[in-house]
Amino acid sequence: MEDCIFCKIINKEIPSNIVYEDDEILAFRDIHPVAPIHVLVIPKKHITSLVELEKEDEAIIGKIYGAINKIATQEGILEKGFRVIVNCGEDGGQEVKHLHFHLLGGKKMGPKIA
Ligand code: AMP
Ligand code: ZN
Repeated sequence: MEDCIFCKIINKEIPSNIVYEDDEILAFRDIHPVAPIHVLVIPKKHITSLVELEKEDEAIIGKIYGAINKIATQEGILEKGFRVIVNCGEDGGQEVKHLHFHLLGGKKMGPKIA
């Protein structure tokens, strides 16, 4: 989608530090990491947010979790654990309007998620 920064990253119009890629999914390091490991995992199809998810998109969500597992293995955080966050809409604090999963790890996360 035009004017979407993550679509531009998918199209390699904007550089990113890619850690995983397949036909349907791209994962790259967050430019402002909040944990030693902070990767954004996104569908290559432009889906604005979880609110805009259509029936046909549900399979990609499962595949994203599969990719997250692979990336966690690659990053060496599978055993110690990690956190996955999806911000949705204004109250959820979503800034980039292309569905993305934050994969956070490499440190002990606090009990608070809000
Ligand atoms: P959210 O607040 O959930 O929409 O998160 C958007 C995330 O995208 C933030 O953590 C930003 O640091 C990250 N971000 C924005 N632009 C880029 C970029 N060009 N490359 C990598 N990460 C980015
Ligand atoms: Zn997009």
